Amino acid sequence: MSKIVMFSPYLSKNAIVYAEEVMKSRWIGQGQKVNDFENKFKSIFNIPFPVAVNSVSSAIKIALDIAGVNPGDEVITTAQTCTWTNHPILEQYAKPVFADIQYETGNIDPNDIEKRITKKTKAIIVAHWAGYPADMDEISRIAQKHDMKVIEDASDALGAKYKNKIIGTISDFTCFSFQAIKQITAGEGGILIVLNKKDFKSAMRRRWYGIDRINRKPTVEGYYDFDVTERGYGYHMTNINAAIGLANLEECKKIKSRRREVVKKYMESFKKIKGLSLLESKSDRESANELFTVHVKNREKFCKKMASNGIETSIIHMRNDAYAIFGGLRKDLPALDRFSKTNISLPLHNNLSDRDVDYIIKTIKNGW
Ligand SMILES: *Cc1c(COP(=O)(O)O)cnc(C)c1O
Repeated sequence: MSKIVMFSPYLSKNAIVYAEEVMKSRWIGQGQKVNDFENKFKSIFNIPFPVAVNSVSSAIKIALDIAGVNPGDEVITTAQTCTWTNHPILEQYAKPVFADIQYETGNIDPNDIEKRITKKTKAIIVAHWAGYPADMDEISRIAQKHDMKVIEDASDALGAKYKNKIIGTISDFTCFSFQAIKQITAGEGGILIVLNKKDFKSAMRRRWYGIDRINRKPTVEGYYDFDVTERGYGYHMTNINAAIGLANLEECKKIKSRRREVVKKYMESFKKIKGLSLLESKSDRESANELFTVHVKNREKFCKKMASNGIETSIIHMRNDAYAIFGGLRKDLPALDRFSKTNISLPLHNNLSDRDVDYIIKTIKNGW
C-alpha cells in the first residue's frame, strides 16, 4: 500500500479544459473568467458581493484597509491558525493581540476577547479551525458593543453554517481561500466577501491598484480616464486561476458530500477510543470539514505509530505566537497551551479511498 498523505489537491477534469481555453484566448489576466468565478460562487452559496483575489492574506489586507486599521492600532486575533491570517496585521503596522482559544474547538474564545480590548483595538479576526464555525453570536455582540469590525478568515470554512446562516453572511468581512490544498482550489486564490455596495466597490478597486476597471473611460490615446483615490494592490485573481477554481466549484456538491461521508465514518469510529477525544460538534452549526482534528494522549507515539504504518499526520499549524515576528511565546494562553500539546489532524481530502479510510481507522483502533 502506498503512503496515505495528509493533503492531495482535487482537480476536476474541466479544470484543464477551462484553463486551456483561457490560455488560448489571449486574455490570461483578470477578466471574464474571474467574473464567472465570482458569479458561480455567489449562486452556489447565496452570498452577495464576492471580490476574487490572489490569496486569503490579500483579502484580509483589503479588509483591514477598509475597516480603517491603521499603524499602531490593535487587532485581537487567534494564534491557532496559519501565519497567513496574522501577517496582514503586521503589514498594516498594527499589533496582533492574541486571545485564548477553546480547547474543545481550537477557535478563539469569546470570553477571552473582551479582556484584551483597549482604546487602540479596531478589529477582531476570527479563524474557524478545521472549518468548524466559531461562536459568532458572542463575537458579533462584543464587536457591536465596542464598535469594532469583525474579519473572518474562513479559509477552512467554505460552505460551513452557523445557526442556519452560511459563513460569509455574518460579519463585515469574510475571507475564503482557494489555495492549492483547500477543498476547492484555484491553484492559488481567495475571495473577500463584504456586506454592502460601498465596501464592495472599494474592495474591487483596491485589488487592482485602486483603479475602477468598470467605470474608467477609454481615451483616443489608448489609455483610460480615471483617478486613484485609495491605496491599491496587485491582488487580483487571474483568468487562469479563475478557470481552475470555476471548474472545481462546479463539483462543489460532490466534493463536500464525500468529505462529509469520510468525517462521519471517522467520528463514528473514534467515539470510544482510549486516549483519543473528538473536538466539539454542536447541532447549531455545520463544519466545512476542511481538516479532521482530534486530541490524543502521547501524541509523539501516536504520530510515530501512524508514520510506521504509512499514514501521514500533522499538527497543521504552529501557534503563531511561537514565531519571533509575533513576539515569542505568550504565557497567558492556557487553553492554547493545552490544545498545542494534544491536537493532531488525520488525512482528509478528496483522493482518499474507502480502503484508505478503513485502514486509518483500523490502525488507530490498534492503539499506540
Ligand atoms: C490555507 C489557509 C490560509 C492560507 O490561504 P492563502 O489563500 O494561501 O493565503 C490562511 N488561513 C487559514 C486559516 C488557512 O487554512
